[in-house]
Amino acid sequence: MSTEQPAVARADFDQVMVPNYAPAAFVPVRGAGSRVWDQSGRELIDFAGGIAVNGLGHCHPALVQALTDQAGKLWHVSNVFTNEPALQLAKKLVDATFAERVFFANSGAEANEAALKLARRVAHDRFGTDKCEIISTLDSFHGRTLFTVNVGGQPKYSDGFGPRPAGISHVPYNDIAAMEAAINEQTCAVILEPIQGESGVLPADPAWLQRVRELCDQHNALLIFDEVQTGVGRTGKLFAYEHTGVIPDILTTAKSLGGGFPISAMLTREELAKHLVVGTHGTTFGGNPLACAVGNAVIDIINTPAVLDGVGERAALIRAQLQNINDETGVFSQIRGQGLLIGAVLSDAWQGKAGLFLAAAEKAGVLVLMAGPNVVRFAPSLVVEPADIAEGMQRFADAVRQVISAAA
Ligand SMILES: *Cc1c(COP(=O)(O)O)cnc(C)c1O
Repeated sequence: MSTEQPAVARADFDQVMVPNYAPAAFVPVRGAGSRVWDQSGRELIDFAGGIAVNGLGHCHPALVQALTDQAGKLWHVSNVFTNEPALQLAKKLVDATFAERVFFANSGAEANEAALKLARRVAHDRFGTDKCEIISTLDSFHGRTLFTVNVGGQPKYSDGFGPRPAGISHVPYNDIAAMEAAINEQTCAVILEPIQGESGVLPADPAWLQRVRELCDQHNALLIFDEVQTGVGRTGKLFAYEHTGVIPDILTTAKSLGGGFPISAMLTREELAKHLVVGTHGTTFGGNPLACAVGNAVIDIINTPAVLDGVGERAALIRAQLQNINDETGVFSQIRGQGLLIGAVLSDAWQGKAGLFLAAAEKAGVLVLMAGPNVVRFAPSLVVEPADIAEGMQRFADAVRQVISAAA
């Protein structure tokens, strides 16, 4: 049997792939820690982290070990059976959070689908079919399935896929009056991100969160926190809700949970979970032993004071460098976010130009993200070496100078 694969290049993408992505001109082939290398051997420092997924960097030895150990034991058994890694990971998540029950899936969107189905089901069982309305926030992002893309508050992602599912409305984020006006006895759930990630790294106002919690309780609506991006240590706590003093009824998480291996989870309390009786929901791959073995290793490493406390220290280094860049250039109007989810908001003169900064950063050898057209987003590994931060921010500073001189 030959393991030889055909030689491929970026140009092949346009020949064989559905054109819904516009990948960079180079193809990464290898990663270690916070560095990646492309086909030509060029090295880049990675502050994008696979969009907040590679929470422990690339090819962390403990994750490689967990994956390869499990690969030699048992890959998949279906949900006709449970399995040891899934039970171990569920116990860890229950021990570490408000939750008492866990459902595993494979992506953020699927975890949100499960959360929203659970909320509808609970309301249906307790109050009848009329209590089915879901309130979400404008500019939110909750995934790309037909339902979650409509729950998300960005029409650019949901337009053209109609008819839209019914029972979903959107209110402005951080707007107490708008939430008070929207919520009523028909509301079964409010879903929100503790920090709006995709649309600009915008943190929730604590007073707003507190009021949303009260309103949900008054109206028998469930509060869902979408922590797909903020979860698993990203903000310096295992989950961002721990900073807020507000406890959700349902929490979804995904991105960093597998450190790059696909896995997601929906967490909730027993009195809610019990409504998803046998046969009401499922997934073939969710909770499979490979994914859960990696998830166990991720939680074992990240849910420790050493890693969680290190997030704030690393964030401070990046923020200080962004401040230096801004003192020199004035390209930012604000640096916001929490922990290692950092948004550098472009100043008036640079509105809409985040793409220019990304392209220049890549040329300078550092990978960063956008969060909408006006924000440059940093979501590096939670264990990124301070030396990599220093060198990467140096490269980013060069990139910013490059953008400025090219525009002059
Ligand atoms: C990325 C993201 C999702 C979607 O996750 P997928 O794994 O792409 O389905 C949902 N919600 C938030 C907040 C996200 O950042």
